[in-house]
Amino acid sequence: MTVIDLGVPSLGPTAPAPADGPLVDTFGRVATDLRVSLTDRCNLRCTYCMPAEGLDWLPGEQLLATAELTRLLRIAVTRLGITSVRFTGGEPLVAKHLEDVVAATASLQPRPEITLTTNGIGLAKRAAKLKRAGLDRINVSLDTVDAARFTHITRRDRLPDVLAGLQAAKAAGLEPVKVNAVLDPVTGLDDAVDLLRFCVGHGYQLRIIEQMPLDAGHEWQRSRAIAADDVLDALRRHFHLRPDSAPRGSSPAELWRVDGGPGVSGTVGIIASVSHAFCSACDRTRLTADGQVRNCLFARHETDLRHLMRSGADDDAVEAAWRAAMWVKAAGHGINDPDFVQPDRPMSAIGG
Ligand code: SAM
Repeated sequence: MTVIDLGVPSLGPTAPAPADGPLVDTFGRVATDLRVSLTDRCNLRCTYCMPAEGLDWLPGEQLLATAELTRLLRIAVTRLGITSVRFTGGEPLVAKHLEDVVAATASLQPRPEITLTTNGIGLAKRAAKLKRAGLDRINVSLDTVDAARFTHITRRDRLPDVLAGLQAAKAAGLEPVKVNAVLDPVTGLDDAVDLLRFCVGHGYQLRIIEQMPLDAGHEWQRSRAIAADDVLDALRRHFHLRPDSAPRGSSPAELWRVDGGPGVSGTVGIIASVSHAFCSACDRTRLTADGQVRNCLFARHETDLRHLMRSGADDDAVEAAWRAAMWVKAAGHGINDPDFVQPDRPMSAIGG
């Protein structure tokens, strides 16, 4: 079972959400970190995420226009207390308005931290421009440094583009550059060792993320996903790891300091979303590319801010709807509960 030590809600969900102050839920958690999906489209077809033929993309008229999105970002930062914004997707680099949205976010007061999660394709050409627009940091997804395995996992032969993107991000000062890896059930433990050696050698920070039941095909099986403890065991056979002393706060990653011999040192984070859920420390709220607020990756209910805005709602009404959506956030994601039901939207359409 998922261990969620949140006690009982301080106020029942039938009490109304507070009209001002922090973006809080009934358990007292405060959301300060906004994940914004800019598109559900992607130029890779990672086997654990999307089918080879892609998905039925969201129709253009359902996507938030740049002005609608920047309005919601303003409401989030100036009224709801959001202090960090991460742009994601789909693949955010295929969204043409990315630089404009980053620049608009950077002009907000108080200025939030602005980060990006990307597969890195096309980043080599855009990293410096994104930095100038106001991007602070970047996470690049990379599940293996072996070219053949990369092509097998992503169904695209693009490893050199990703490696060039990583280099450009570092050169542009988008640091610390983090590498996100979801491990392949067959080769993943070997990939993890090679990835850590690669990341430590290049000054990138590796984050290994347990695979979650968010694939479009609903084919996730617990027995096939590599658990965080197995990753740690595999890494310990090659590196000396000791717990990082920095306080973890709301970070999903458990951090380890790595010593792999002379000149080989750095950190690695393990994100055990399934086997050691961290929902009690969750500080996230999510906005999909079609303007739906989700209070959890695994939520089965969404709040339609796009419709609200297009029907003429003022900022007070949009703020109230966002607050109400977060107020009823569940205690935990429920993956480990017997009655767990995977959400209809896959990860690519929610924003990872
Ligand atoms: N396209 C961008 C990228 O590749 O980083 C952003 C979106 S992608 C959905 C964000 C992250 O979610 C990637 O690191 C990807 O590996 C991860 N991801 C996708 N499906 C996942 C799943 N079922 N479980 C865990 N992580 C997943």
